[in-house]
Amino acid sequence: MSLALVWFRRDLRLADNAALCAALAHHTQVLPVFVWAPEEEARWAPGAASRVWLHHSLTALDRALRARGSALILRRGPSLNSLLALARESGARAVYWNRLYEPAVVARDTALKSALRAAGLAAESHPGHALAEPWELKTSAGTPYRVFTPFWRALDAHWRARFAAGRAPRPAPRAIPSPNRSPESLPLPALELLPRVRWDRAPIAHWQPGETGAQARLREFLDRALAHYRRERDFPAVPATSRLSPHLHFGEISPWTVVWQVQTAQVADPRLDSAEAEGFVRQLGWRDFAHHLLYHFPHTQDEPLDPAFADFPWARPADYTAELAAWQRGSTGIPIVDAGLRELWATGYLHNRVRMIVASFLTKHLLVPWQEGARWFWDTLFDADLANNTLGWQWVAGCGADAAPYFRIFNPVLQSKKFDPEARYLKRWLPELQALNGEALHAPWLAPSPPGAYPPPICDLAARRERALAAYARIKTQPRSGGSARRRSDRRAE
Ligand SMILES: Cc1cc2nc3c(=O)[nH]c(=O)nc-3n(C[C@H](O)[C@H](O)[C@H](O)COP(=O)(O)OP(=O)(O)OC[C@H]3O[C@@H](n4cnc5c(N)ncnc54)[C@H](O)[C@@H]3O)c2cc1C
Repeated sequence: MSLALVWFRRDLRLADNAALCAALAHHTQVLPVFVWAPEEEARWAPGAASRVWLHHSLTALDRALRARGSALILRRGPSLNSLLALARESGARAVYWNRLYEPAVVARDTALKSALRAAGLAAESHPGHALAEPWELKTSAGTPYRVFTPFWRALDAHWRARFAAGRAPRPAPRAIPSPNRSPESLPLPALELLPRVRWDRAPIAHWQPGETGAQARLREFLDRALAHYRRERDFPAVPATSRLSPHLHFGEISPWTVVWQVQTAQVADPRLDSAEAEGFVRQLGWRDFAHHLLYHFPHTQDEPLDPAFADFPWARPADYTAELAAWQRGSTGIPIVDAGLRELWATGYLHNRVRMIVASFLTKHLLVPWQEGARWFWDTLFDADLANNTLGWQWVAGCGADAAPYFRIFNPVLQSKKFDPEARYLKRWLPELQALNGEALHAPWLAPSPPGAYPPPICDLAARRERALAAYARIKTQPRSGGSARRRSDRRAE
């Protein structure tokens, strides 16, 4: 009889879970464990929205485990102490987990693996959070990628080889044998993941956290939206994207399961335009790219990848505090910006096109450092993800890998007209504008009598565009070396 701990982290699923499969293959009994230790993620401990999602996802995982004769044991950190205590209490001889790639987590897991081994336990980590491990793909010079297109070529070949080899995602185990007496678990409310002031009820009602919800989302996306994904994904009023991002962040579904099912759907239905399916899998490629970058350039969670931006003349906090607050509240007077930030507040989610528009407005028209926007997203998005959020903000701000050039400043009114031509998205989130028609919906200040309940724009778009270009002109003459000196040494995550 041998017993292993499976340490669940952001892999809150039973299907295609490499650590769980390995533990079941090598031991007769398994104890599933979750340790809440936000302080170990330092400045990037889960934000308020993430904690809410986590509460519900842990509930769902426990339910799924109970249906298989097991149950989730909850503990508070430090992680190492909790795992050692559980091993002592249960007689477990091994700990299994799936790898993550955020800098603080890599450092924690590396130290923890050595400490577990020093204590006489076996400690094994497994892949699965990305399509490829961040060190698996390298340029021909042996360096990490900094440009998406060649990265994507390598990743595309990688997953196609895996598909051709028939490596289907592993099904969830039917039963999870557990010891007759399990160590004590904390009750879920003891982790205090839900807020004291219950703002969370309405936003979370838009979602079904947990593995069952993730699989249902994927099925619905494959049935209803994949066939026109590429053509419609930029229109926020159309439910054209998968909305899998929080499920992927918490590992309720593996990215490989998503790719496998998309590819299987494509093979099964020759009428499905392959460009649509490829367009979707490519977005998962951006997710892998984000993890690749954060792993190899860990300082980018706080600093720009492009060192020229270290001296960028952002506005001073005293000058931008009021404008930042208006942006956060969704009361800038620019409809597409406000609609997006209100969607975020109401649902814990924001459409990708609108993420780009609100981020561009903040970093360019308001000259607020991208880190302020990233922080706000971190606290309010259910899918808040350090790798994707860092990539997204630095891409828009022009200071990241393969970024949009800084001088490409989105005009929010033109973006609104192009991607929400009938203003369906605007009308949904800004009821104050219902009485307006046509162009005035996108720029109410141009209406003969602008609605009194909606604020006037907080800035003159044209003047602020010029100010942003002037700020950029001050750094663009400096050499752009690329910051590779700050790269992580070539070791692996534990
Ligand atoms: C400023 C900014 C901040 C962002 N912050 C986050 C974040 O914190 N967490 C997050 O998951 N995504 C973030 N993104 C990326 C993207 O907006 C979301 O992943 C996407 O909108 C999620 O919706 P979906 O699941 O319907 O996407 P789909 O279009 O259905 O795409 C499928 C999956 O691919 C991945 N993906 C799609 N687009 C991107 C992208 N541009 N970069 C990386 N991965 C991508 C996501 O995991 C997504 O679930 C950010 C983008 C920007 C511009």
